Amino acid sequence: MSLYIGRFAPSPSGPLHFGSLVAALGSYLQAKSVQGKWLVRIEDIDPPREIAGASADILATLQAYGLQWDDEVVYQSQQSARYEQVLASLSKQQLSYGCCCTRKLIKMQGGLYRGNCRDKKLSEKNNAVRINIAKLSSPITRFQDQLQGDISLDKQQANEDFIIRRKDDLYAYNLAVVIDDIEQGITEVVRGADLLATTGKQISLYQLLKEQSPTYLHLPLAVTEPGLKLSKQNHALAIDKENPIPTLLKALFFLGHPVPKQVDKNSCETILNWAIKNWCLSKLPKQTEIQIEK
Ligand code: GLU
Repeated sequence: MSLYIGRFAPSPSGPLHFGSLVAALGSYLQAKSVQGKWLVRIEDIDPPREIAGASADILATLQAYGLQWDDEVVYQSQQSARYEQVLASLSKQQLSYGCCCTRKLIKMQGGLYRGNCRDKKLSEKNNAVRINIAKLSSPITRFQDQLQGDISLDKQQANEDFIIRRKDDLYAYNLAVVIDDIEQGITEVVRGADLLATTGKQISLYQLLKEQSPTYLHLPLAVTEPGLKLSKQNHALAIDKENPIPTLLKALFFLGHPVPKQVDKNSCETILNWAIKNWCLSKLPKQTEIQIEK
């Protein structure tokens, strides 16, 4: 095994659709092509958006497609103690603060949070908790993506004190994802390009936590029309668990790896073995989105 540790981190807000299969497959191949580990983490920290049975269904679908993970599946819903520990440490170092601003107020101020509560010393209980980005000498405004190249981020967004725990006590995605990627020793994050914009916030958080960030590779998103990604919210169809091979071949084609005629296509295993051997980043399309048939 090499030192590479990758992961796929689905939220259980519905079954796997073609777009999430592309992210799972891309991260799997990137890890397996260098004999690395591929971990699966279920990001179930937002109960109101969770669909009953989705976690088990996602795992069964990955297995039906031959995408077998290493180690135990990690569930974010079981990591609260670690999140609390990190929140307490950030608070103690004054790297976070309580904020009582409502969404409505922030919207009225143009949609960007302007640090209104930064110096108010509000309690972190019964309020949202925000990261104090001003404590960083320079918030992250650009980073190098392994596929998309040099990414410049919106400066105002980069300077925003983003939420790490919501007023309703739910942990924010940006907090949980960073803490878990550190805990699991993830060396590279491969995921959809819809998360490019938030990557700067995550790298800023690594810096505040004095941790080394992983490398990032953002895959093109499958869209049905420009700007409209396949998602559980817009009711993208669940992929077929009974007959995975055609969809697996389609996902490989989408990722720039059409499977040649002579390859045995009778099992996901033979197809994936071919893909692991032939996986090559220079064949991946570099767009951030690719239109597919509905
Ligand atoms: N849980 C996130 C999602 O399903 C992905 C998080 C990540 O890969 O960083 O969109």
